[in-house]
Amino acid sequence: MKIALFNQSKLGLVLEEVVYDISTLTGWDDQNPQESLKMLMENFGDLRAKIEECQAHCDAYPLSEINLEAPVPNPSKIVAAPVNYYLHQDEMNEQFSNAEYTIEKLGFFLKAPSSIIGPNDTVKLPFKDRRTDHEAELAFVVGKRAKNVPASEAHHYIFGYFALMDITVRGKEDRPWRKSFDTFTPIGPWIVTADEIENPNELGFKLWVNEELRQSANTKDLIYDCYKFFEVASAAMTLEPGDILTTGTPEGVGEINKGDTVTIRIDRIGEFSVNVEFKEECLI
Ligand code: MN
Repeated sequence: MKIALFNQSKLGLVLEEVVYDISTLTGWDDQNPQESLKMLMENFGDLRAKIEECQAHCDAYPLSEINLEAPVPNPSKIVAAPVNYYLHQDEMNEQFSNAEYTIEKLGFFLKAPSSIIGPNDTVKLPFKDRRTDHEAELAFVVGKRAKNVPASEAHHYIFGYFALMDITVRGKEDRPWRKSFDTFTPIGPWIVTADEIENPNELGFKLWVNEELRQSANTKDLIYDCYKFFEVASAAMTLEPGDILTTGTPEGVGEINKGDTVTIRIDRIGEFSVNVEFKEECLI
């Protein structure tokens, strides 16, 4: 299923080009979407049959006429993998000489949840004179509390998958600072439930800036795949329902600038585009 948030935190089921409002059907509270998402995931086994009947009971809207919002609006944390593709490690070494290690040595970092924006929102660059890059990534949402979960069991804990842009100021500062500015984590276009993703570790994905293809890769080239990343993340910290894990970017990262439109597309999930502007008051 494709589970979307739209039009001020209503819950939607996306079928082809139509969004069904399943808020009432599922007991969704649009004033507390993150809490409601946790309830939805906890009770999804019972709610699934009801949701499947939505075409008979729910209001329907053309996808083109609604506003999609971030499908995970306010997780307790975003756990992010650094340098998790070898070819991205190579390009970072060539350009910045600061990525000699991969995730195996670096561990992972947290992004501020306040950096999340939806798939129709705008990335706002905080600096006019600092290089700021796109990073295309496959991300997923944790469905139930997890601690010390081995890779072989991780699929039981992942509710669904979506596309994520890990917007990043380049430089020597720590990653959480460079990647946590407001608007630096566009996610969407919706959550595709895990049952529809046969193998998250073999998904093609692409990112364009305007018409230019910048990144084209496949999650089969991840160093730590989705499940191994889940294992190491849950070994270090308790993963709460609604938390986001993002798996890292492949080669092809590059600069974004005011006026650009950045588009990400992942097989079996979908695509979205965000515009890029300067923040109202740039820091420099
Ligand atoms: Mn990244």
